[in-house]
Amino acid sequence: MKTKHVPIRSCLGCGEKKNKGEFLRIGINGERLVMDVNGKLPGRGAYVCRQTECITSLLRKKGKLSYALRISVPHFEEEDFLCGILRALESEG
Ligand SMILES: [Zn+2]
Repeated sequence: MKTKHVPIRSCLGCGEKKNKGEFLRIGINGERLVMDVNGKLPGRGAYVCRQTECITSLLRKKGKLSYALRISVPHFEEEDFLCGILRALESEG
């Protein structure tokens, strides 16, 4: 019997551990934050649940996202980026 190895990650918002595929992946492109829609971006990734609670909580933890990705982006950029995700989630309903 084959068992498929599924990487486990934890959410930056709530800390819950789940399969990698259940999270939104945030990656970096150069020095910019990007949504890694296909999970194909090389380098570090940050994971957060697909729910507004977790994004909001990450939004409050200033610098946590850039720390997780080992990059330094201005806080307003982090904020802009996370607010963009929030809007996208809200429009999905
Ligand atoms: Zn979460």
